[in-house]
Amino acid sequence: MGEKLRVGGFTPFTAIDYPGALAAVVFCQGCPWRCRYCHNTDLLPAKAPSAYDWEQILGFLASRQGLLDAVVFSGGEPTAQNALETAVIQVRALGFKVGLHTAGVYPRKLDRLIPSLDWVGLDIKALPENYAAITGVEGSGKAPWQCAELLARSDTPLQVRLTRHPVLTSDTELEQIRHKLQELGIPHLEVQRCNSEKALDQTLKFLS
Ligand code: SF4
Repeated sequence: MGEKLRVGGFTPFTAIDYPGALAAVVFCQGCPWRCRYCHNTDLLPAKAPSAYDWEQILGFLASRQGLLDAVVFSGGEPTAQNALETAVIQVRALGFKVGLHTAGVYPRKLDRLIPSLDWVGLDIKALPENYAAITGVEGSGKAPWQCAELLARSDTPLQVRLTRHPVLTSDTELEQIRHKLQELGIPHLEVQRCNSEKALDQTLKFLS
């Protein structure tokens, strides 16, 4: 048997994490980036022990058949774990739709997953060349834009979101991002205000 999905958090019922559906959310443990505004800091260490047992979550989901429509994998970065692919298959076998929240860190893994996904929320953080200033990781900007391209070409329903802190994203860059997305065939960018209260980089609280 392969490795089990490591889960750092679980929401058994939500009406806001998958458009138009009642869903459970599985917060996957681990992310290779360290975005300055990240507020899921407990979920970042990849090797942290799993706070929830995946088999128990599957058991819970089996008891919710007919009551929930979908299961959303969020994080952390869900595609960081190789166990995600099996977990998606298991959830589909229970009859649920599958949603994915991703920052688009691993395009090849996402490409393999796309046929099994019913909805994707993709975070775009910046123009490719400006990613490192947010994620702290050099060269991190290419992958998410590749993911945007892959998803734009697929039939999978997609929402692209950007978390905005005024110091990190200028009006000009925001317009350039919108334009670049439109060139890929993605007409809408959902802009969410950054909540810096629990941000990894606490200096963001004082910058605006
Ligand atoms: S990609 Fe998401 S989970 Fe990872 S550090 Fe950035 S905001 Fe946090």
